Amino acid sequence: MAFIQEHEEDIVKCMKCGNCQETCPVYQITGMESRVARGRVRLIKAAMRGDIELTDGVQESLLTCLQCDACSVTCPPGVPVNDLMLQAKAAMLKKGKTLPESLNRIRVNIEGESNPFSQPKKERGAWLPPELRQPRSAKYLLHAGCAVSYAQSRIGKAVIRILQQAGVDFTLMGDREECCGDPLIRMGDAEQAELLIARNKALWKEFGIEYVITPCAGCFKAMKEHYADVIKPLHSVQFFDQLIKEGKLKFTKPFAKKVVYFDGCDIGRHGGVYEEPRDVLRAISGLTLLEFAKNRQNSVCCGGPLLGSYPELAKKIASERVREAAELGAEILAAACPTCLLNLKEGANLAGIKMDVQDVNALIMRAL
Ligand code: SF4
Ligand code: SF4
Repeated sequence: MAFIQEHEEDIVKCMKCGNCQETCPVYQITGMESRVARGRVRLIKAAMRGDIELTDGVQESLLTCLQCDACSVTCPPGVPVNDLMLQAKAAMLKKGKTLPESLNRIRVNIEGESNPFSQPKKERGAWLPPELRQPRSAKYLLHAGCAVSYAQSRIGKAVIRILQQAGVDFTLMGDREECCGDPLIRMGDAEQAELLIARNKALWKEFGIEYVITPCAGCFKAMKEHYADVIKPLHSVQFFDQLIKEGKLKFTKPFAKKVVYFDGCDIGRHGGVYEEPRDVLRAISGLTLLEFAKNRQNSVCCGGPLLGSYPELAKKIASERVREAAELGAEILAAACPTCLLNLKEGANLAGIKMDVQDVNALIMRAL
């Protein structure tokens, strides 16, 4: 009941208009009322009031919410769905409802080794050359994030080369880097996330870090929401746009391709970065920039946040985005988030569409 008392004002705001059906990527695939904001809000209310059991089905309804925030953009009374879902997930955990195995494994991995992939913490910096594996004092920190450190180091290597080319004095935390905490927050475990946030902040303070640059949109979002009191967060593409405009980075190689930029939710709706990736891509000679019909604030999530927990659903959502890109005539589908990148590649495989899915940092490096 405490949850209802605390959030009643937000819950009763829902006027059951169903506008969210138009925008929810999960509903678009499943067609289920329990997979859209309206249904989820009703379930939260009933479960938290004790009218219905907190069953696995109710839990799955909440856990399949991507936290993409698309519904909030079109919701007439402005129900803060994203926040409600996060709070409800946290309340479920507090009530003793255990997470499904796929998510619990991710949680245990992060709590133990500070990454979701069951990889050893002491190997986090293994992708780095020896001279960059040890942290040192610097104004700029490159925070790679878990996905880049363990699975997509190609993105991290591109960012390093671009920073070096621009003459930026930066450091990395190497093996000492910690998960930003975002995956735990998404599943409702804000308390454990706070421990990671505190550890990262203490480490950055030790090395006098002022700006944290990251190519991971999930880390960027977490930093904007939970770290901005001690550092200034920058998405790497945002920083590179600044360097290009200051004349510190120059494109020299033409790249005659049709590229559509995908506004991931964490860099876009959550991070407020829409124009910088477009400005960077437009600055590449020969590149033609295409737009999804739904772009910027209205962009539709790729499903990436569910790739670890509900992979089939995640891939189906991604396959829709890839289909849309193919219909536009795009040769390259560009994203600025390792999770989007991975899931869009999965979506292309599922749809049987040959689409070159590329990270924006990698495209920048190619054109320098
Ligand atoms: S759009 Fe907003 S008010 Fe309308 S049903 Fe969805 S959550 Fe409720
Ligand atoms: S946040 Fe995204 S996935 Fe969740 S209900 Fe809203 S539109 Fe659907």
